[in-house]
Amino acid sequence: MVIENVNSVTFLGNSNERNYMKSVYYFGKNNSEGQADMKNLLGGKGANLAEMASLGIPVPAGLTITTEVCTYYYDNNQLFPEGLEKELKEALSKVEAEMGKTFGDLKDPLLLSVRSGARMSMPGMMETVLNVGLTSKTIPAIIKKTNNPRFVYDAYRRLIMMYSDVVMEKAAGVEPQEGKGIRSKLESILGRYKESKGYNSDVDLSADDWLYISTEFKKCISNVLGRDFPDDPYEQLWGGIKAVFQSWNGKRAINYRKIENIPHKWGTAVNVQAMVFGNTGEKSATGVAFTRNPATGINNFYGEWLQNAQGEDVVAGTRTPHPLNEATKTSESEHLESLEVFMPKVYKQLDKIRLTLEQHYNDMQDIEFTIEDGYLWMLQTRTGKRTGGAAIQMAVDMFKEKMIDKKTALMRVKPDQIDELLHPSLDSDEEEKSKVLARGLPAGPGGGVGQVVFTADEAQSWAKAGKIVILVREETSPEDVHGMHAAEAILTAKGGMTSHAALVARGWGKCCIVGCSSLNIDFDKKEMTVNGEQIKEGDWISMNGTKGAVYNGKVSLKSADPESNQAYRELMSWADEFRTLKVRTNADSPSDAEQAIAFGAEGIGLCRTEHMFFDPNRIIEMRKMILAEDEKTRRKAVMNLLPFQREDFKGILKAMAGKPVTIRLLDPPLHEFLALNQEQIEILAKELNVIPKKIKERINSLHEFNPMLGHRGCRLGIAYPEITEMQARAIFEATAFLTKEGVKVMPEVMIPLVGTHAEYENQEKIVREVADKVINETNIKFNYLVGTMIELPRACLTADKIAEKAEFFSFGTNDLTQTTYGFSRDDIGGFLPDYLENKILEHDPFQSLDQEGVGQLVSMAVKKGRNVNNKLKIGICGEHGGDPASVEFCYNEGLNYVSCSPYRVPIARFAAAQSVLKQII
Ligand code: PEP
Ligand code: MG
Repeated sequence: MVIENVNSVTFLGNSNERNYMKSVYYFGKNNSEGQADMKNLLGGKGANLAEMASLGIPVPAGLTITTEVCTYYYDNNQLFPEGLEKELKEALSKVEAEMGKTFGDLKDPLLLSVRSGARMSMPGMMETVLNVGLTSKTIPAIIKKTNNPRFVYDAYRRLIMMYSDVVMEKAAGVEPQEGKGIRSKLESILGRYKESKGYNSDVDLSADDWLYISTEFKKCISNVLGRDFPDDPYEQLWGGIKAVFQSWNGKRAINYRKIENIPHKWGTAVNVQAMVFGNTGEKSATGVAFTRNPATGINNFYGEWLQNAQGEDVVAGTRTPHPLNEATKTSESEHLESLEVFMPKVYKQLDKIRLTLEQHYNDMQDIEFTIEDGYLWMLQTRTGKRTGGAAIQMAVDMFKEKMIDKKTALMRVKPDQIDELLHPSLDSDEEEKSKVLARGLPAGPGGGVGQVVFTADEAQSWAKAGKIVILVREETSPEDVHGMHAAEAILTAKGGMTSHAALVARGWGKCCIVGCSSLNIDFDKKEMTVNGEQIKEGDWISMNGTKGAVYNGKVSLKSADPESNQAYRELMSWADEFRTLKVRTNADSPSDAEQAIAFGAEGIGLCRTEHMFFDPNRIIEMRKMILAEDEKTRRKAVMNLLPFQREDFKGILKAMAGKPVTIRLLDPPLHEFLALNQEQIEILAKELNVIPKKIKERINSLHEFNPMLGHRGCRLGIAYPEITEMQARAIFEATAFLTKEGVKVMPEVMIPLVGTHAEYENQEKIVREVADKVINETNIKFNYLVGTMIELPRACLTADKIAEKAEFFSFGTNDLTQTTYGFSRDDIGGFLPDYLENKILEHDPFQSLDQEGVGQLVSMAVKKGRNVNNKLKIGICGEHGGDPASVEFCYNEGLNYVSCSPYRVPIARFAAAQSVLKQII
């Protein structure tokens, strides 16, 4: 069956293809059919509109077409299910009754908006059509009713513009070249007309002007698209509905879902709602607000509004929005009238709704409202995106306000949001001395320093080439998200705190400044002039996203100081109350160790010793050792390294006093120390009193085809036991020395890359013999452990045998991932993008542990190891130790600790607490 008047746009499928399911849900004053917990079916927007209506909050009546219809649509050759039309008409008649207007009526026509609404908000990623129902027949009736022809023709041209772009071009699959789409063509008609009339802004156009523009728009559409703009209200409506469904699979929506990990199969709902207008005159307005400040978390009603405007005007950045109230004015917005002062009664009503919504949802809400001729309508509420700092502040405050309990407060903050607080900021001393290039609105906190690029594509390609870029745009649109994601920071000339750039950047915790009006960008020349200074593509700028200041050149970035944030400290202390998993750090120097302790590390889980040999003082001895042809010469060279190593270990063990320190014996293939140029070869030859040729020959002889699987790890200590002896001696002499000084030291000697218990036992014997010797020589008793890395599948398979001797296991999941997948950890970059693109891998397995495969080996090794020794201490020290999902896995597998880089320690602590809470909530 074909719906009439829809020229090839909408067909109905066969009812036999599906079991009947309700497809349309009414919302409004008279018993809304949906509610907030039906997000999966109605999308976030639809579910919350229904909920607000049920709370008695004024919401224009409407209906939601379910996400299941979207799924059906894509499963059935883009056909709609049978019965949808009937259901829609029934719900629409309820809407009509409530609003006292009829869709397509010739006396008092109802106009509709058609909007998307997915389960998770995807801001700006899908399409919207407004003012649906304006036709040559309904226009006269609305003019008569409103007595405002200018408003009506303005609304009409907006409909024509949106509809032709969204429905007739994008949804129809027409793909014009960049800047050649129908919208740009219509925009240039408008631009030329304004120029010919000497108008500066849209406000200058009269009713007749808009009527003329509408007619010109329609002519252009017929010429360019070969179809007339539809003059039938239902054709417009179905076209709009189809366009929203189509936009679910639009390029930018797909990109956004990939970035945000939103499943493609979810689909979007469509909300068809009675239009209300914020642009009917002086007593009308529109705005967006947050029930608390989304940038700082402070409990202030925070938002922006515009008089006589439609919602898109606030977010588009074409007019500077006004602050909602007096309390949130800044030096930039001081002169702008607040809604609180302009419409005190409406503001009070809005403020009351703010409290109702917060108390109902127990969380910060992001709301949209419209005031039509003095009457307030709520158009949306949803849980508001927030910066990491704000998330922490709100969680702590809401607990104190008794809105939520401690566990909920902890679950409110994502581990990645903790990360935001740990982000660097501009060095304040240097910043103070730097001249401010420009100022804008502080939309995303922290510091950003990078090279300027002016397009999203360039941002992406420069970033791929390893450059750090700042994306500078007039304003951003959803088409720019890939570049925004790739950029270190984002700077826009237009837009407010709720503009696209601000929302997206805040969601990602990125440094961002918007509304920086002194930027004059010339996209063709790839440069901008800013307050008289010229900045070209590739020039460096620095940004303080917390203050909204931009600087020319590079200002140093300073590491974060989360400890100065009271709410952070409080929340982290709650996390520590709940968590049972210990968190250690991977650190090779006393300064890293100190930083990690400041972040809450409870020990060192991996001290890689190889880095210590690259110091210019020692590398020569190391090279002598490697190049030695007999044991005697090698032993002599190794022993020259002993004093250096001893000092290293003293420093680290002391910095970690009272805490366990796992020191790993030398691991990398030796040729890594021999990457020498001709000059270095000659110097070394002199030192060793040999001819350069000899050195070259030795280097060649050490060449391996696959060094990652070659002579490395415990294989070094087995071939050259003197290396193990020297390292063990350095560790134990440092331990004895510090013990004598009264410092509590707890060394754990770790043997790398063990695949058989015999390898382990070979090395363990050397270590224990050296320990005994040092104890005898010094007469100082100390405790220590010997254990192993578990980083080869064979070690997992034979973990029971290894556990007979080893006192601890530490999963080296970098190598374990490499050897389980057979993916070279150094070369995966060559094919990973294709694997992710084709969904062969969900994520990079070197970042987040592959629980399905590598996880099985971990699980097996834990069980086998603990079967033999139920006290076996087990941790992880691969990169996964700082990844929240992997931390949760480790907790569930019963590990004792995770170890990660110092800056990830707080995230790991937090993720460890959430892992416990997920089990008990
Ligand atoms: C590992 O393999 O996971 C590990 C921690 O060791 P490295 O990265 O030094 O090989
Ligand atoms: Mg390893």
